[in-house]
Parts: sequence; structure tokens; C-alpha cells
Amino acid sequence: MSARDSLNGIDNVPEKEPAKLQVEIRCVVPPTEEQREKLRAVMAQKYGTEASNVEIVIHKDPAAVDGFNIFVGDDNYDWSTLGRIRQFRKTVQALPKDPEGEKIVSLIREDIAGFSLNTGYQQVGQVVSVGDSIAVIQGLRDVVYGEIVLFECGVKGMALDIRTDGTTGIVLFGDSSDIVAGSRVVRTKRTAGIPISNRILGRMIDPLGNPIDGGEPIGAKKYYPLERPAPGIVRRKPVSRPLETGILSIDAMFPIGRGQRELIIGDRQTGKTSVAVDTILNQKNKNVVCVYVAICQKASAISKLMQTLREAGALDYTVIVSSPASDSPSMQYIAPYAGCAVAEYFMYHGRDTLIVYDDLSKHAVAYRTISLLLERAPGREAYPGDVFYLHSRLLERSAQLSDDLGGGSMTAFPIVETQAGDISAYIPTNIISITDGQIFLDSELFNAGQRPSVNIGLSVSRVGGAAQTNIMKKAVGTLRLDLAQYREMQVFSQFGSDLDEQTKRQLLYGAGLMQLLRQKNRAPLRLWQQVVLLLVAQDGRFMDVPARRVCAVRDDFLAWFGNKHSTITLRIEHEKMHSQELRDEILEAGREYFRGKAFAD
Ligand code: ATP
Ligand code: MG
Repeated sequence: MSARDSLNGIDNVPEKEPAKLQVEIRCVVPPTEEQREKLRAVMAQKYGTEASNVEIVIHKDPAAVDGFNIFVGDDNYDWSTLGRIRQFRKTVQALPKDPEGEKIVSLIREDIAGFSLNTGYQQVGQVVSVGDSIAVIQGLRDVVYGEIVLFECGVKGMALDIRTDGTTGIVLFGDSSDIVAGSRVVRTKRTAGIPISNRILGRMIDPLGNPIDGGEPIGAKKYYPLERPAPGIVRRKPVSRPLETGILSIDAMFPIGRGQRELIIGDRQTGKTSVAVDTILNQKNKNVVCVYVAICQKASAISKLMQTLREAGALDYTVIVSSPASDSPSMQYIAPYAGCAVAEYFMYHGRDTLIVYDDLSKHAVAYRTISLLLERAPGREAYPGDVFYLHSRLLERSAQLSDDLGGGSMTAFPIVETQAGDISAYIPTNIISITDGQIFLDSELFNAGQRPSVNIGLSVSRVGGAAQTNIMKKAVGTLRLDLAQYREMQVFSQFGSDLDEQTKRQLLYGAGLMQLLRQKNRAPLRLWQQVVLLLVAQDGRFMDVPARRVCAVRDDFLAWFGNKHSTITLRIEHEKMHSQELRDEILEAGREYFRGKAFAD
């Protein structure tokens, strides 16, 4: 043999024998030779090999009384009736027991409902490593992103990281203490969903749809997916109806429309939650379903909020989705999507909905934790590269649906916490760019007693103007401009001591307006109250009232107006249209109240 021949390696390399395909059969009665031949043929065809390459190994397994349980690598073909019954029993036994009764984890219940004895084939994966509510598994080669997988101890997880090396990162929705390396895991072939029906109103649920308010299970038959594509352009129509917050400064200057996404942003303790909760309270008798998603909040704060809503009679039309600080990051991660699914359910049934995400900065942190544990590459501020998509796909699901789809709407109030008022940080800028405006709450204003601390210069509402009622639009007039002028003048007046009379009057007027915009939390103002106040204030009525008495005088004036001029209030509430005659009547009533009144300091 020449050297050349050996280099070409044509003749002399012994032919490599193809690896045998090992088929393990667990059974009581071994298959007959005929059955084996058939099985060899089936397996050879399935795995693309020769029948002669299929090696059958038989293990006696008394559990598989009737039929066979066949394993080929990671694949399991369960052809034993008993095997399936055992699987079913295992699922049922794994249900967590509740001291007050046997409440069943909704996802698992769905699994039982969907349990089918026809399923002969399933892929079985094995846990490679587990820890920090993350499991890395190997073997479920067809698992898809976002799919729910079931571990043999009954815990569910979601596939979030499908890697090229055949392993998959799973976030766990339960206690991981029973999962060990080597534990088996199977696909469920469905993505996460929660049970929703009209009975969910007034309830507090966790992100998997289990009630956590001590009440009955929701008892819904239908499951709604947590993740769902946002409605496309043809399925929407422009935002055109107002969603009143009951907060004068917002409704007047930054009106919000149904279907809009308005960010509430500010430092910690600046009244962000209060703005959202006041808006929920203001939806009473307005046929709006509200969903409040609490992400990583103290359990005590959530229960207090529930109490507040209950006392105000607002719980009947509200759903709270809560994933408190003690929950795993995976639960916190899916919480806003669960809330969105609840709001979507009502939106697609033609209802108007309002959803509050309190707050998305914590949500981003939960996602960052998961991503780091899944060993994804960290980007800016250690957030993963897709953190932007995380929120855009959530907020895009808010919409004003077209009439063909029932005309329902979902208005979203995402909340974001800033550090030292820095709205140019990574997460705030991201969310600002995907919302239709923001209410910026200023800690300096808040501390100075100007509450709600809406920063008029930095707040904006991009689409709500089209939704403002005609009478409100006319009543607002030049308020925003006046206040901007006042702020400028205020800065200059600090330098000069002798001001002319005109400037003094303007400062006085501006200060009165700022006082008027102060509003206690949980005290939403009705449309007529806002309209009357705006008109009368711009007529200069509050200028002679000393600053610290403005709020008291305002409340007294509104009470007086409501009693004395109930016809006007009714006209405003029902017609919602501006007319010169109505305006004159309101201004005359204002003059009547303030006539002859002297307000001592
Ligand atoms: P956190 O950053 O802790 O979530 P937050 O920005 O959500 O805080 P809130 O919890 O809404 O702020 O409010 C902080 C405090 O300010 C609460 O005690 C609340 O009662 C009070 N507060 C909020 N708004 C007003 C208001 N308009 N008038 C008076 N007090 C208010
Ligand atoms: Mg808050």
C-alpha cells in the first residue's frame, strides 16, 4: 500500500459500525418475537436506522401490568394503561393541600382536565442542575419558548432559555426542594394561562390565578394565555373617550383617554400609587373594570390597599393580581402578564378596563435576576438585552378596540420609580418611549406640600387631548400656560425685591391656582366640580383668598354650589358641552358666592 493510498484513506479504513439504537422495554409479560419484530421496524423507521440496528433490552417491571413502557434515549412511549393511571394519580397527589379546604392549583387542575389516555408518546427530560428557582434540564428537544413543563414532583416551570447545547433553562413556579439532579420532567405542550370568568371581580389572585384572599376558587372553565400578541392596527380605533382620574391637575392638563398608556413616574414616596388608586376609586359607577398588579410589594401594603378599595366600594369592579416581595422572581416576572390577561378578558368582552402595573422597575429587576441566573449576557446596568421588549410587548396589549371587536378598551398606568428624579436612567427612558405620555411626580413639590406633586413642565399626555370632554377643554383654557408663566416669574421674583403691581397680581393668581390644584388622596373630584373650579378660578375669584385658606374655601364653595345650583351640576355631568350661557351662569354663581366675603389671613 502506498503512502498516497493511506492518505486518501479509501480502502483501508474499516467501515464504522452504526451505533445500536437501544430500546428499553419495561413490562411484565415480555413481547413475543413477532411483537419484537414489529417494534424493531417501527423504531427503525422513527429513528431513521436499520431494523437490524435496533437492540431491544427487556426489564421486568410489575408496575406496567398491561402493555409496555418503552424508553428510547430521552423519549418515552407509554403503552401501558397502568403507567398512564399512575401518571394521573401522581398529578392528583401532587396537588398542594390547603388548610381551609382542598384548593387546587389552577394550572394543575387544567392539566387534569386535559388529561388524555390517548397520549402515547412524550419526551422526558432530566434535571441537570437546580437552584434559586431555576432548573436546567436536558432532553426536551422540542420544548418551545414559554412552554409550561411539569416535573415529576408536580411543580410547574416555564421554559425561558432554550440553548444550542440541548439544555433548557426553566423558571420554577413552586417549591424546588423536591427537584433534584436527575428528576424527570415532561412537556405540557401549552403555554402559561390563568382561569378567568366574571367571578374574578373583587378578588385577589396570584399570577397563576389562585385566589389568595382566603375565598373560594375562581371556578373558571376557560384559561386565558398570559402572553398574547397585541391587537394589530386594523383591530384598533383612535382613543376618543376620556378616562377621568378625578384628580384636577391631571384631568385638566394631562387628560387621559380610554386605551391610552400613561406612565406614572417619580421617586419613592411621591404619591405614585395614590394617583393610580384614586383613579380606580373614581371609576365607581362608570362601568370600568380595574386591575391592580402589585409587583414585589409588601404583603401588608397590598392588604391595606384591598381594605381601602373595599371601604370605598371599589373592590366590586377591581381585581388585584399580587406577587409580593416574598415571591420568587419567576412569579413576579409573570405577574403583569397575568394582570394583562385579566384586563384583556374584559376588553375582548366589550368592556372598558384600567390596568395599573405597580411597578415596572421592580418587574425589570425580577427579570434581570432571572436572566442572570440563567447565565444570559448582562447589558447596560446588568439588564439583559431584551428588557426593552419585556415591557413593550406588555404595554402594546393596551388598546382601544375597533367596533367590530366590541369597542372595549384597556387603559394602562405603568408605574416606574426613579432615583433622585433621574428620568433618563435605562428603564425609565425605555418606558417613556413606549407610552403615550407621563405624569411626572416631583419629590420637591411633594415635600413642599404640593400634592399630588404633578410636575407640570415634565408631564405630558400625547393622545388624551382628543378624548377630553368639550366642556372640560373650554374650562381649562390657558391654565397650563398661566402656570408656566407663574413658575418663570416666581424664579425671577426671587432676585428682584420691587415688583410692579401687574407682576404681583400675576404671582398672586398663580399661587392661588397652585393651591387650588392641591387635592387630598382618596378624594376624587367629579367633572362638574372640576369645571366649576377651573372657570371660577380663572375668573380671578380665588386671588383674594390667602394661600393657606384656599383649600378650605374651595371645599366650602363646592358644597355650596352643589346645593344651590344642582341644575347646573346636572347639566355639566349630562350634556358635557360648553356654551356661553352655561359659562356665564357658572361665573355669576361664583361671583355670588365670593361677593362681600372677606378672607382674613
Ligand atoms: P412608594 O415609592 O413607596 O411606592 P408612592 O410613590 O407610591 O410610594 P404613595 O404610597 O402613593 O407613594 O404615597 C406616599 C404617602 O403620601 C402616603 O402616605 C400617602 O398617603 C401620601 N399621599 C399621597 N398622595 C397624597 C395627597 N394627594 N395628599 C396627601 N397625602 C398624600
Ligand atoms: Mg407605591
